[in-house]
Amino acid sequence: MSSIQSETKPLRPQLAALLADDIGTCTGCGVCVRECGFLRLYGSPRHIARSYNPDDPKKNVICFECSLCGLCSAVCPTGVKPQALFLEMRREAVDRGFGSFREHKGLLGYERTGTSRRFTWYGLPEGCTTIFFPGCALPGTRPGVTLAVYEKLRETLPTLGLVLDCCTKPSHDLGREQHFSRMFGEMVAWLESHGIQRVLVACPNCYKVFSEYAPQFHTETVYEKLAGILPAAASEAPAAPVTIHDPCVVRFASAPQEAARGLVSRSGRVIEEMPHTRTRTLCCGEGGTVGALAPDLADGWGELRSGEAAGRQVVTYCAGCANHLGKRLTVSHVLDLVFDASKPATGPITYVNRLRLKSRFKNIVPAAVTRERTVPGSGSGMLRPLLFLGVMIAAIVLVRASGAGQYLEPERLRALFAGFGIVAPLVYIAIYTVAPALMLPGLPISMAGATVFGPVWGVVYTIIGATLGACVAFLIARYAARDWVERQLIGSRWNKLDSETAQNGWKAVAFTRLIPLFPFNLLNFAFGLTKIPFPQYAVATFIFMLPGTIAFITFSSSLLGLLKGKVSREFFVGIILIVTVSLIPRLVKWYRNREPRPEIPWSLRRSLQCKAAAIAALAATAAGVYGAIQKYFWALNAYLYTIEFNLLFVAHRLGDGDLAGFVEYLRPMSNARAAGIALVCQTMHTFAFPFSPLRTTAAFTAAFGTPAGVAYVGGAGLVVAGLSALFGRFCLGDLAPLHYQYRGREPLTPTPAWAAWSAGAMAAIPGFPLLACGLWIGGFRIPLGRSVAALTAGLVVRMLLSLAIR
Ligand code: SF4
Ligand code: SF4
Repeated sequence: MSSIQSETKPLRPQLAALLADDIGTCTGCGVCVRECGFLRLYGSPRHIARSYNPDDPKKNVICFECSLCGLCSAVCPTGVKPQALFLEMRREAVDRGFGSFREHKGLLGYERTGTSRRFTWYGLPEGCTTIFFPGCALPGTRPGVTLAVYEKLRETLPTLGLVLDCCTKPSHDLGREQHFSRMFGEMVAWLESHGIQRVLVACPNCYKVFSEYAPQFHTETVYEKLAGILPAAASEAPAAPVTIHDPCVVRFASAPQEAARGLVSRSGRVIEEMPHTRTRTLCCGEGGTVGALAPDLADGWGELRSGEAAGRQVVTYCAGCANHLGKRLTVSHVLDLVFDASKPATGPITYVNRLRLKSRFKNIVPAAVTRERTVPGSGSGMLRPLLFLGVMIAAIVLVRASGAGQYLEPERLRALFAGFGIVAPLVYIAIYTVAPALMLPGLPISMAGATVFGPVWGVVYTIIGATLGACVAFLIARYAARDWVERQLIGSRWNKLDSETAQNGWKAVAFTRLIPLFPFNLLNFAFGLTKIPFPQYAVATFIFMLPGTIAFITFSSSLLGLLKGKVSREFFVGIILIVTVSLIPRLVKWYRNREPRPEIPWSLRRSLQCKAAAIAALAATAAGVYGAIQKYFWALNAYLYTIEFNLLFVAHRLGDGDLAGFVEYLRPMSNARAAGIALVCQTMHTFAFPFSPLRTTAAFTAAFGTPAGVAYVGGAGLVVAGLSALFGRFCLGDLAPLHYQYRGREPLTPTPAWAAWSAGAMAAIPGFPLLACGLWIGGFRIPLGRSVAALTAGLVVRMLLSLAIR
């Protein structure tokens, strides 16, 4: 095996074997180098094989400058086949995304046209086992001759079928192996399934392709057949001698070479051979599409041929060679001599000729079975994308003009969904499924869904509808325009990008779905145009749209209450979730760029795990208690029915009327009982009803006077904040020191003063949960004295503010 390795991915096995073979077998004798301009430029095949680097884009261009003509193998004394190596290198380059060049676009477009539905036609008469396959160039340049050949062949083959199609040799030569196999394989399979056993070709390139890749058929050129059936021409006045150009693709096929010479001689011409002929023939310059990237090398071959022709008329049996050499020489196709054809057509008229010829053949071939190519990838171009664009624009205009847009007001949508009763979720999902494809905004639909179905079912229906909508738009773009886009992505950079999208496209989907700034509707279509596999796209869309959907729907479900002046829990949760989701990409970026961490010691890990378990258990208990109080308070209330219990309940949402009743209730109380009630009020507020407007201070100062009321409520606040600090100390207090230990840094000792005063500042805000202040103090391990001072100051300010804004 070759010692050439790739850093990115393994070499194709065929290439690795050829590299090893060429490095081992080629002696570097230079015989082929003397014959070939390309090898004179880059060195012997052994040298090229040794210096090959599959990861270097520049090294991958070299192989596209070889004409794949095979002269080197014809002259090599040790039997090396360099053209096979260079073809494999082309395939490797294509696999790696280095093998697409803008310069090849024209030829690939020509091939695409040849395989399109409009230009192809298969006509098989009853009992047909042989077809005539004229290729692309002959029907375009010589439609009359093509027709005459078919008619002539049918005289001895009455069931002769006809196939107008392209053998896709351009793709073959450009290393587009996958495309070539798909297209040619499909054609061969169809012919085989319809009983075809023999193929008569007019183009030497088709001859090579059929002989090499469809050995199940007997492939022959029409020249061999015609040489056998045409009578000798009546001898005329001796014409000037001609010389024969053998196309390089049939250098090793003696039958077509002899048949062509026979036909030339039959026309009365004398043949004078050139120095390079038959197995040692030269490339006309068009081989391997070299002219696109290395026009000098292509011209070099043409000039060599011109020199050898030495002013004589050249006869060839390849319409492509005739066309190419015709730019500098007098060239005839052998069939021009046989059928006395007029001047061949060139340029755009060749396409018209092919279409007209197709129509003629449709009339004269007694076909029992016909078809036109409709396999994917054989499309003729922009028709489908343009059609798609037209339909989309028409649909959008229609939706807008019909006034359906007015229903996109959240209020109207809400009414619409509500009117559908139990099938409302289905209607909602259906609307969401089609809206992105019609470029309708999803925001009002989501808002309406959130308010109609609530935060939980709103999320479920929205994520289903939004994912379906994203998939529909994606599939429309994929079906309508992906092929066209793929064809435009000529150039190694674009091709590489496209290939990378196929492998890592889900990351792009994840990123853009997490950030609500990217336009949802456009993205769906855009992803459809890339190579990302559909299942990958659908799953990534669902997963990564979920956080944003939860955040947005939770927030939107609170908007109705907000409009009525009620700030609900969903409002805060929604805001927090939206901020959190927006931060995810930044967190991911930070996580990716962070410095590698030392391994966490086992003792530290265990300590952190215990902490995490304790926090999770406490949080779950607190959430359970909170939920139970919220849900079953009425039941406890009915059972216990004590005034204290009622007042505790109303303490967090006292109205003015209730406030007066509460004051009357407090007034006769002993000091101890009043302090107890203040404590329970603060506890309930802190742990069960955070963020509720607390009127306790107002009630206590009205009942006992300002100093005593402030003392009751402030003292209770201090106790609650202290309990919270203990809780915080237990849950969070060890985290910072452990973190510093883990990072190998010095802990923040003594605790900075700003931490204590921040706790005081938080405590000073009326309604701010004292639980948060306690957690803060505990988490920072703020010393007791400083904590009490900060909290006391904060609570005094809080109560004064409460009284001031009463
Ligand atoms: S195939 Fe033709 S162009 Fe390529 S190296 Fe051989 S002789 Fe030269
Ligand atoms: S003729 Fe054959 S052995 Fe000599 S340099 Fe060319 S490939 Fe190598």
